[in-house]
Amino acid sequence: MPNRITELFDIRYPVVQGGMIWCAGWELASAVSNAGGLGVIGSGSMYPEVLRVHIKKCKQATPHPFAVNVPLLYPNIEEHMQTIVDEKVPVAFTSAGNPKAWTSFLKAHGVKVVHVVSSVKFALKAEQAGVDALVAEGFEAGGHNGREETTTLCLIPMIADAVKVPLLAAGGIGTGRAMAAVMSLGADGVQIGSRFVASEESSAHLHFKNKVVATREGDTALTLKELAPVRLIKNAFYDQLTAAYKKGTDTEELKNILGRSRAKKGMFQGDLTEGELEIGQVSGQISAIKPARQILCDIIAGYEEVMEEIRQQAHSRFCF
Ligand code: NDP
Repeated sequence: MPNRITELFDIRYPVVQGGMIWCAGWELASAVSNAGGLGVIGSGSMYPEVLRVHIKKCKQATPHPFAVNVPLLYPNIEEHMQTIVDEKVPVAFTSAGNPKAWTSFLKAHGVKVVHVVSSVKFALKAEQAGVDALVAEGFEAGGHNGREETTTLCLIPMIADAVKVPLLAAGGIGTGRAMAAVMSLGADGVQIGSRFVASEESSAHLHFKNKVVATREGDTALTLKELAPVRLIKNAFYDQLTAAYKKGTDTEELKNILGRSRAKKGMFQGDLTEGELEIGQVSGQISAIKPARQILCDIIAGYEEVMEEIRQQAHSRFCF
């Protein structure tokens, strides 16, 4: 399936796994890369020495390219960036910050840079900063999300028309049908997070993986817009936030309710009541925990099937 994304990353399929905090360690990243996609280590939840270990293990587990995702809000960002360069990681995904800050440094050291955006304005800014590709992430996505609340269906064609660099679509994509949809909207590939949370290789706690499988349409919400908007599963922690909003709250109180390490508590330690359970709307379509290779194969097979159906329909319409 060669195109601009497979050529840029030197991979078989234009499918990139999301670098999700607490869920995306070396086991998941190497499994996705070994299956022909681009695996991504999520460094936002890793202390600098932990990231170095994950990169080394990933290199041992796959001969194929992989990437590291770095949220630009990360407190020890200099150390993470130096580790990426020292370890010669081929690709870095940056998110939640100004793409100008690190793109030149990474590129000067031979690292390809992809920046995650949620609007045309930031897509143009990232392109000007010299990134090699973009991820455009819509409202459906789990975890940190754009303030604009633009859905993937609307965001992808607008950004595809505005930029020249290769474009990955993210948010609401967990099947081959969804992949076909966003590719027809102008994306060159997809970034898939939530579907890979419920994989055997994800480092998420089993309670959280099972919760993702049990999640249905309407069970997630976007909240904490005053701090950093985040999509999560509604639970007791979410109810606490809702009660605070109802009585009238401010950012200080929200920060207090959130506290520290909520995400770790929920996704890594499996506290489904008090933890923060970040996942996308597509969780409503996930019905089993599967090996990452199987997930990728199902997506590619589903994509090929839909594209073939479309070709057949077009053929029968135009050939009497
Ligand atoms: P909190 O402030 O609630 O907690 C920090 C967490 O990160 C702790 O659990 C801590 O682990 C861990 N951690 C890893 N490295 C460090 C470090 N150098 N200094 C301090 N803590 C560290 O933050 P969150 O858990 O909400 O978010 C952590 C990071 O992930 C942030 O940079 C955030 O921007 C990013 N993030 C990105 C998301 C996305 O969708 N892109 C979604 C959510 C978060 P320990 O408990 O072991 O000390």
